[in-house]
Amino acid sequence: MTVENIPNVRTCITPLEEDIKVYEQDRVGEIPDKKFFNKNRKKIDEDVVIVGSGPAGLMAAITAAKQEVPSILLVDENHLFGGQLIKQSHKFFGSEEEKAGTRGIDLAIELMEQVNSFKNIKSMLETTIIGCYNGKNNHKLIAVKRLTKGDQLYEINCKSVIFACGAMENMLAFPGNDLPGVYGAGGVQTLMNVYGVKPGKEVLMIGAGNVGLIVSYQLLQAGVSVNRVVEILPKIGGYNVHAAKLRRCGVPIFTSHSIKEVYGKGKVEGATVVAVNNSFKEIPGTEENVTCDTVCIAVGLTPSIRLLEQIGAKTEYIAEAGGHVAIHDSSMQTTVKGVFVAGDSSGIEEASTAMIEGQLAGISAALLLGYDKEAGKLKKKFRKALDGFRSGPFGLKPKTCKEKIACCWDGGINY
Ligand SMILES: Cc1cc2nc3c(=O)[nH]c(=O)nc-3n(C[C@H](O)[C@H](O)[C@H](O)COP(=O)(O)OP(=O)(O)OC[C@H]3O[C@@H](n4cnc5c(N)ncnc54)[C@H](O)[C@@H]3O)c2cc1C
Repeated sequence: MTVENIPNVRTCITPLEEDIKVYEQDRVGEIPDKKFFNKNRKKIDEDVVIVGSGPAGLMAAITAAKQEVPSILLVDENHLFGGQLIKQSHKFFGSEEEKAGTRGIDLAIELMEQVNSFKNIKSMLETTIIGCYNGKNNHKLIAVKRLTKGDQLYEINCKSVIFACGAMENMLAFPGNDLPGVYGAGGVQTLMNVYGVKPGKEVLMIGAGNVGLIVSYQLLQAGVSVNRVVEILPKIGGYNVHAAKLRRCGVPIFTSHSIKEVYGKGKVEGATVVAVNNSFKEIPGTEENVTCDTVCIAVGLTPSIRLLEQIGAKTEYIAEAGGHVAIHDSSMQTTVKGVFVAGDSSGIEEASTAMIEGQLAGISAALLLGYDKEAGKLKKKFRKALDGFRSGPFGLKPKTCKEKIACCWDGGINY
């Protein structure tokens, strides 16, 4: 939306201010203040810059710091460190080493405390990397601190950069999908668990993957009624334990069902759901009216790779990754030397694997700059841990994703 005359602002992550002017925008925005870009830029030099402070970025910073890289900068556009973790009030699965049994919100604090204990890590919040360029021996990143105020432009030069930018929620096309009350499930989770705001009174959840199931349960915990969960596939995609918790609370899960439309005057007043056949085509006559004031869309995530594309990293569409991803080797280095990727940006997976990939990227970036404290041994350990996570039935998709990425690497790699 356009905020205070600044176009293309992501209002979902922009803090509200008294008398703030927010307008809908149905056009390509124009640069409002051309002088802004000519303002004095502050120049910064760093060894390693990490874009994104989710589990992948935090672990990348900690690992590079342990290798004694002299100057590391961790940048995030949010006003809190932790990425998705800051809204995850449930306990994590996985191995003990990757903090299974810990709540995401506690993990974010724990990792941030570790980051703060290293003198060689600096951090910048509310700072968005808006551009990146690949130089001969270094990389240049352009950052803006608090875009709505147009405060400060930074030019950051670094020897190595790790993109741990996470992912974006997918949307669905159906009549009424732009009515107030239609949300991405991650947005609802942020509203409830970060800001303590209920999205509505009665929710229809679309998607029975882990995100749809977990957010449905958290809605119930917040005192919001969940009418039902509908899932277009013939079976539930998330863990059974999450589905069982919902069913115990009386929330039905309708597989082979989808949303047909949402209706209401100026806001959501109800929705129509419909059964689908094996080819995902609507079955006429199965339409059902659902009373709700909120519709949550939990139909997957797409890796955030725009900066990686801009810096020239080779990307490919890989369905198992959730969309286009940067091709990378087993050290998480992309096709551009010194440019690394980790976490959901390298293929949608989990916080646990994002943490390990972050460690792998952090250690590899350090090694490239000549800092080596048992790096080879540690890399082996991290790769083994990733293989372990990707070995079970739920690991099949990410395993296939990484195998396909390896095949796209020119010359092939031993993944
Ligand atoms: C509802 C839900 C439940 C989940 N439950 C589990 C679970 O039980 N166990 C588990 O292991 N995983 C779980 N996950 C998955 C897990 O949260 C993600 O896989 C993980 O957070 C990915 O980590 P990341 O560091 O790659 O990205 P993120 O956590 O998304 O962090 C990316 C960060 O990058 C920042 N950023 C992006 N672009 C820029 C830019 N241009 N400039 C500056 N900063 C930028 C963002 O602000 C963000 O802070 C769950 C996810 C959801 C949505």
